[in-house]
Amino acid sequence: MAYTDRTLICIDCGAEFVFTAGEQVFFHDKQFVNDPKRCKQCKAKRSSSGSRVRAETRTTCSACGEETTVPFKPTQGRPVLCRSCFSKRQAAPSAASPNTADPNVAQS
Ligand SMILES: [Zn+2]
Ligand SMILES: [Zn+2]
Repeated sequence: MAYTDRTLICIDCGAEFVFTAGEQVFFHDKQFVNDPKRCKQCKAKRSSSGSRVRAETRTTCSACGEETTVPFKPTQGRPVLCRSCFSKRQAAPSAASPNTADPNVAQS
């Protein structure tokens, strides 16, 4: 199927922008059904400033049960650690038995 460049109107600034054939192939590959709605400038503006939504996923730490967020999609069946448990585990290479760690230990 041949694609040709199309001119679209940005919904943010109203400027015309080109939806290139290459981008259409990309969209088709990704199975995006909607045309792009914003020109490159507005898209860049939105992603660089304003609502900077990090792709954080809420999950539960498999070590301490605390609710935490991770900057990635946790894989099913794989343990997810919160920040403190993660650094604790890194500090202790032989973390085979979690019973050795006293949760009430005071930092000195
Ligand atoms: Zn625009
Ligand atoms: Zn934890």
